[in-house]
Amino acid sequence: MHQALTTCPYCGVGCGVQAEVDGERIIGVSGDSTHPANFGRLCVKGSALHETLGEHGRLTRPRVDGVEVDWDTALDAVADGLQATRRDHGNHAVAAYLSGQLLTEDYYVANKLFKGFLGTPHLDTNSRLCMASAVAAYKRAFGADAVPCNYEDLEEAELVVLVGSNLAWNHPVLYQRIKAAKQINPLMRVVVIDPRVTDSCEIADLYLGLAPGSDARLFNGLLAWMDDRSKLDRVYLDNHTQGMEEALAAAREDDTSLEAIAADCDLDPERLETFFYWFASHLHVVTLYSQGVNQSSSGTDKCNAIINCHLAGGKIGLPGAGPFSITGQPNAMGGREVGGLANQLAAHMDYHTPGALERVTRFWTTESLEPTLPDAPGHKAVELFEAIERGEVQAVWIMATNPVVSLPDANRVRAALAKCPLVIVSECMADTDLLPYADIVLPASSWSEKDGTVTNSERRISRQRGLLPPPGEARHDWWIIGEVARRLGFGEAFAYGHPSEIFDEHARLSGFENALDTRLDTRLDTRGEGKRLFDISGLAGLDRDAYDALAPIQWPVTREAPSGTARLFEEGRFATPDGKARLIAVRPRGPEQVLSEARPLRLNTGRVRDQWHTMTRTGRAPRLMNHRSEPFIELHPDDGLHYGIGDKALARLEGAGGEYVGRVRISKAQRRGEVFVPMHWTGRFSGAARMGSLLAPYCDPVSGQPESKHGAVSIAPL
Ligand code: SF4
Repeated sequence: MHQALTTCPYCGVGCGVQAEVDGERIIGVSGDSTHPANFGRLCVKGSALHETLGEHGRLTRPRVDGVEVDWDTALDAVADGLQATRRDHGNHAVAAYLSGQLLTEDYYVANKLFKGFLGTPHLDTNSRLCMASAVAAYKRAFGADAVPCNYEDLEEAELVVLVGSNLAWNHPVLYQRIKAAKQINPLMRVVVIDPRVTDSCEIADLYLGLAPGSDARLFNGLLAWMDDRSKLDRVYLDNHTQGMEEALAAAREDDTSLEAIAADCDLDPERLETFFYWFASHLHVVTLYSQGVNQSSSGTDKCNAIINCHLAGGKIGLPGAGPFSITGQPNAMGGREVGGLANQLAAHMDYHTPGALERVTRFWTTESLEPTLPDAPGHKAVELFEAIERGEVQAVWIMATNPVVSLPDANRVRAALAKCPLVIVSECMADTDLLPYADIVLPASSWSEKDGTVTNSERRISRQRGLLPPPGEARHDWWIIGEVARRLGFGEAFAYGHPSEIFDEHARLSGFENALDTRLDTRLDTRGEGKRLFDISGLAGLDRDAYDALAPIQWPVTREAPSGTARLFEEGRFATPDGKARLIAVRPRGPEQVLSEARPLRLNTGRVRDQWHTMTRTGRAPRLMNHRSEPFIELHPDDGLHYGIGDKALARLEGAGGEYVGRVRISKAQRRGEVFVPMHWTGRFSGAARMGSLLAPYCDPVSGQPESKHGAVSIAPL
C-alpha cells in the first residue's frame, strides 16, 4: 500500500487529495495537508471519492451503431465520419462539445484538433453554463479573463460578501475556511445576498434576500450611494480606471434613493443601508459570486456592476480585497486557458486579439502541416445545439458531459441529437441519458486513472494523477483524440506519448512570441499587437519526473515569477491597451423568462450539498444519497397553502419545454412565489425530473450563458 497525492474532481475549489492506494484499488482518501487550496480539509463529497470507484457500471468497450467493436474500428469510424462530413458539408459542419471535467491536456488536444486542423470554430464546453458571464465581465473590466484574488484573501478580508453563492453546499471547503477565519477574527463580517436562505447564512452577519435578478440594480445603487457620500476612491479612479462617469450616469438613470433601490430589490431599506455602509467603509472587501450571478440573461452586466463597485472604492489588488468569481467545475479555469470556449482561440487569446491567428498558426505549424484556423468565433453552447437542430452541424463529438440533462430546453436538445447524422460520445459510464443518441461510443478513463492538470478558481494549477489503470479498454481522452488526428493525416502535430508533452506544448504556447513589459503586470506582444496576462511559460520544459512532481502553482508563472503569482493587479495596472481598468455602464434588466398567469412561479435551480452534476459518480456512494435521496421542489408555506400542496406531497412543475415531478419540501427559506429544484436528477434516476426541460433557452447576449436561475413554471399536485 502507498499514499499518493492528487486533486478532487468535483468543484472549483480544487482541493488536494491524499489517496491510499492498495494494488489496483484506492481504499481511502483524506485531505492533502500540503495543498494550499484546502490544507487537509475535504468536504463530504471529496471524502467519499474512494466509495465511487470500481468497474461496475463503467463503459469498457467502444461501440459503433450499438455493436461492441475494437478500438481500431471505432477510431476509423470517427475519423471517416468527420472526414466525410467535412467533405460533403464543409469544415463548419463538425463540432465538439466539451466539459469542465476534462483535464487541461485533454482540452488542449481537442481544441488543437477541431480549431487548428479540422478548421471549425464550433468547439464549446459545458463551462459555458458555469462561468462564461464572469469571464466576459473580467475581459470588459480588466482586458483579460483574470481572477484577481486568491483564497487567502477570503481569510484576510474585513468584509466578505457572498452574492448568488451557497458556498456552504457548493464550495464547502472555502466556506469552512471563511468560517474558521471569522472565529479567529470576530471583527470580520459576512454578508449573504441570495433569494434563498441557505446554509451559508449560518455565518452571515447580514442577510439580504433580494428579488431574483435584481443584483445589478443593487450594485448600481451601491455605486451611487458611495458617490453621494464621498466614499469613492477618487485617486484610484483617476490613476487606474476609465468609465466612472458613464457607469455612474447609467446607475442614476434609475431612482437611486435608498427606498427606491430597496423596493426594486424587495429588501428592507435599513438592512440595505447597513450593507452599503459596510461595503463603503471597509477597504478589505472580497465579493465572492457564483452561478446565482452568472446564470442570467444579464449575467455579464451583473458581474460588471460588482466589479464597478470594487474599482470605484479601490478595493482590488490588495490583500483581502477584490471581486472573486468562483467556478463550479474542477477545471472550468483550465478550459479557459487552452481556448475551450467557442469565442476563444487558444491560450487566453481571442479571435480578435491582434496577431493571435497568425501567432497560433505559426506555433502549430510542423514541418509538413499547417493548421487551418477559422477566423471568427463559433457557436456557443445553446447556439451549437440549435445549429445541430437546423442541420448546419452534421457531426458532433461530445466529451464528458450530458447536454440532454443540463442544457435549457433539454427535450429540444434530445430531438436535435436524435436527427444529427453523426453523434460521437466519449464517456466513462455505461448508462447515461446521452448514450442512446450516440452513433459511436468511446470508453474514457476517469478520476484516479486520468493523468494531467487542472486549474482551480484561484488560478492554481494542480496535478490530477493517474493512480489506477483504466478498466477494460477505456482510454485517456487525449490519446483518443490524438489517434483520430493521426487517422485524419495530422499525426505529426499530435505525436504525444505522455500528458507531460502536451502540458509542455501548452506552456510554450502561452509564452510564444511574448516579451515581458516590466511596466505592467502583464505581457506585451513583441510587435506591440496586444497584451496577454495568461503565461505559464515558466513551466515549459518539465520532463516527466518534474511534471509528475509539479507542486500546485498559480499563474502567471514566468521566468520572472517562477513561483507563480498569488494576486493580480497589485500595481493598479491592467491588461488593457492603456493599462487602466474599465468601469462598465450597466443598465439593469430583468429575466427574459417572463412570469405569466399560466406560469406564475419563478424557478431557481442549483446543486445540493452531497451530489455532483448528473450523479454518475456521487450517485454510486450510498451515504451521499442520505442528504437528499430524491428529486424535490422547495416551496414557501404560503404557496403550499395556495396550491393545496403539503410537505412531502408529490407535485408537477410545468415549464417552457417540459415537466418535472418531485417531492415537495415546504420551506420558509424559499421566497413566496418562487420554487427551487436541484439540477442533478436525470431520466436514469427519475423519469421526469430533469430541470433542464423546464427552462427556456434564453442566454446572456455578451457571454452566451443560459438563464438557468430564472425559469417560469406552474405547479400542481400530482
Ligand atoms: Fe474540495 Fe470541492 Fe472536492 Fe469538496 S467537492 S473536496 S470542496 S474540491
